[in-house]
Amino acid sequence: MPIAVPFDRSRITDPALLPIADKVIAGERLAPADGAALFHTADLLGLGAMADASNRARNGNVVTFAANQHINPTNVCILRKTCVFCSYARLPKEAGAYRYTMEQVWEEAASVDGDITREFHIVGGLDMQAGFAYYDEMFRGLKARHPQVHIKALTAVEIAHIARIDKMSVRDVLIGLREAGLDTMPGGGAEVFSPGVRATIAEKKLSGTEYIDVHRTAHELGIRTNCTMLYGHVETYEDRINHLGMLRDLQDETGGFLAYIPLAYHPDNNELGVELGRTGTATTGFDDLKNLAVGRLFLDNFTHVKSHWIMVTPAISQMSLHFGVNDLEGTVVREKIYHEAGAHTSQAMSLDEILRLIRGAGKTPAERDSFYTVLRVFDQPPRPRAEAA
Ligand code: SF4
Repeated sequence: MPIAVPFDRSRITDPALLPIADKVIAGERLAPADGAALFHTADLLGLGAMADASNRARNGNVVTFAANQHINPTNVCILRKTCVFCSYARLPKEAGAYRYTMEQVWEEAASVDGDITREFHIVGGLDMQAGFAYYDEMFRGLKARHPQVHIKALTAVEIAHIARIDKMSVRDVLIGLREAGLDTMPGGGAEVFSPGVRATIAEKKLSGTEYIDVHRTAHELGIRTNCTMLYGHVETYEDRINHLGMLRDLQDETGGFLAYIPLAYHPDNNELGVELGRTGTATTGFDDLKNLAVGRLFLDNFTHVKSHWIMVTPAISQMSLHFGVNDLEGTVVREKIYHEAGAHTSQAMSLDEILRLIRGAGKTPAERDSFYTVLRVFDQPPRPRAEAA
């Protein structure tokens, strides 16, 4: 729900933002036209200051992160030819196609420090050979080997795919996989909900309404989820706002979303990047920060907005901590999906590095669990070397 946010209007230089600032200060919900004005403005610092105030009113000066490991068990996907923005998927016999055996999953899961990793983040392609039984066995096996580790797994699109190939309802898939060990769901696969955009970039994928329906079912069953928006391809600002509006509506209805995570489109190694003549050009820092800040202001019923450093770089993620962001993607190990699409960031970030980024932004780092409960606060920054002697 909107909350009244203390904010100094003099930090705004674009007069179009002043009525919006008044709403933020009064704790009034922003209308779609307000959201569009936020995207259209060139007053990035004014927008960021408002988003920062809104975040501080909810989360104070603390920035959270989770120690997680990504596992991408299969890149085989039946939508390989129609999701033209995707660099990750392969057809079953295409070069580079893979599907992990269970032994490979156990091996990958065991390759990090079991005392540190608190969450497995598991997503992959829509593979005809990876149905309910595959994930049931995987989650049960992971829980048996790492009972303390939370399983955040399978996007709405994957859940719907499993339901279709196993002739089950979405509800039954979710109930069954929860019994096997699924704790929460990630928010990927949303792209942009606009039917026109989907027809261009992912014509056969689950529709926006169907994505929302899967998340609604999960929330009704008590399974918390995240949500996302893939920006920076063919969508308009209005498409973005409509997308955010649908997320805000479901959150009003169920309260089941944990966090909103805008995802930057990467144009390398995919058809869309070639078609748009964008190969080698990622989203701009200006647009990355705008998406995070607008998300913070428009999604007044969300507590958490996360920056995904793999996609926007650690440098932009650090700056985003003053643009409404209160959570950083964790110490990810072996991320494949965005690296196939041209992300040049590291595939893992150490705890020291994540603490350095957060402290460098003048914030207090805190490790959290998958439900955003703070586990430990790192409130004693080491003294600078010159003072330490
Ligand atoms: S975006 Fe997802 S559903 Fe589409 S081709 Fe890639 S892996 Fe498959």
